[in-house]
Amino acid sequence: MRIYADNAATTRMSRTAIDAMMPFIEEYYGNPSSLYAFGQQAREAVEEARATVAGCIGADPREIIFTSGGSEADNQAILSAAAIGRKAGKLHIISDQIEHHAVLHTLKKLEKEGFSVTYLPVGTDGIVRVEDVEAAITENTCLVTIMYANNEIGTIQPIREIGEICRKKNILFHTDAVQAVGHLPIDVNAESIDMLSASAHKFHGPKGVGFLYAKKGLKLVNLIEGGAQERGKRAGTENVPGIVAMAAALKESVGHMEETAKAVAALRDRLIAGLSEIPHSALNGDAVKRLPSNVSFCFEGIEGESLLLLLDDKGICASSGSACTSGSLDPSHVLLAIGRVHDVAHGSLRLTLGDGATEEEADYIIRSVKEVVDYLRGFSPVWRDLCNGKGTFIL
Ligand SMILES: *Cc1c(COP(=O)(O)O)cnc(C)c1O
Repeated sequence: MRIYADNAATTRMSRTAIDAMMPFIEEYYGNPSSLYAFGQQAREAVEEARATVAGCIGADPREIIFTSGGSEADNQAILSAAAIGRKAGKLHIISDQIEHHAVLHTLKKLEKEGFSVTYLPVGTDGIVRVEDVEAAITENTCLVTIMYANNEIGTIQPIREIGEICRKKNILFHTDAVQAVGHLPIDVNAESIDMLSASAHKFHGPKGVGFLYAKKGLKLVNLIEGGAQERGKRAGTENVPGIVAMAAALKESVGHMEETAKAVAALRDRLIAGLSEIPHSALNGDAVKRLPSNVSFCFEGIEGESLLLLLDDKGICASSGSACTSGSLDPSHVLLAIGRVHDVAHGSLRLTLGDGATEEEADYIIRSVKEVVDYLRGFSPVWRDLCNGKGTFIL
């Protein structure tokens, strides 16, 4: 048995997406830039996909640039806003402490190039305060970049309110919406969003393809130079099968978004209730303003890595929700930002449910996590000390 509960990391391609993609691998493999009819079929498919994607977020097709994924879209959006800022002598950017590394590392690069960046804190609820955004704006601010929903703890940010402020003050607003597109209703105009990043593999499309929405008239810088594809803003022969599959996946996700969200959120809340019964545990992030699929917990006295390995033995694919990779001992910057201390942050677990998840699966996960946490605490020296009154429980 395998229960895949890591849909924030990636999702399974939908049958619809696979079916949409296959003809452009097997049959219509022409280059969209070719003049003959065979290439033009591919061109038409790409443009149809552009219109579909645009329609799903309330944009105009001319405002969509296809990219290799969310990371590229984030890089291009931020570097473009920085170039516009530099021209105007405005070298200040506002972001927050819980962004994805695709945003944070791009901002770090800009800091080395003379920009100053304000990384707004979040509350213990994992949400950026609108007043903080407003207060951080100076006459040198060229960009506000705040994610739509967080990939680790699932919290949803007040995008519409932040967009409104930016629009009023004439400051560019970018949102990394990789976790939100296909899962939450989005309207770039109603929410005053100037740039938005998305990635197909987070909504049942293929890996290696995504898009950047950039409001009409906004001058983008190229990350990749070469041919004139994507109106000269992103060179390289289009990933036709990927683009077509992404559009099909998005259309499908948006088509049943409401029912899916309702069903998945019910399971999420079942999991949250079940896991909350574990002593000295806590949910990470706001219980309500969170993605329908996201369950993120900290358990005191255990190591998240061991928890994941033992859950894997039970057929459960989960994540520690931290970027704790390649031997780095730093716990997740997101968990630290919501006020979890190092030891507690290390005992984290992220479960992100898929569309087809069932109550049986949720109950199996609850039983398994309870069992494994108990087991690990059984020989954790930290836990023993806490139980013996050496040190105090935090959760
Ligand atoms: C997955 C993810 C990205 C990166 O997208 P890729 O397509 O994998 O490059 C960026 N931001 C967030 C919030 C994500 O969850």
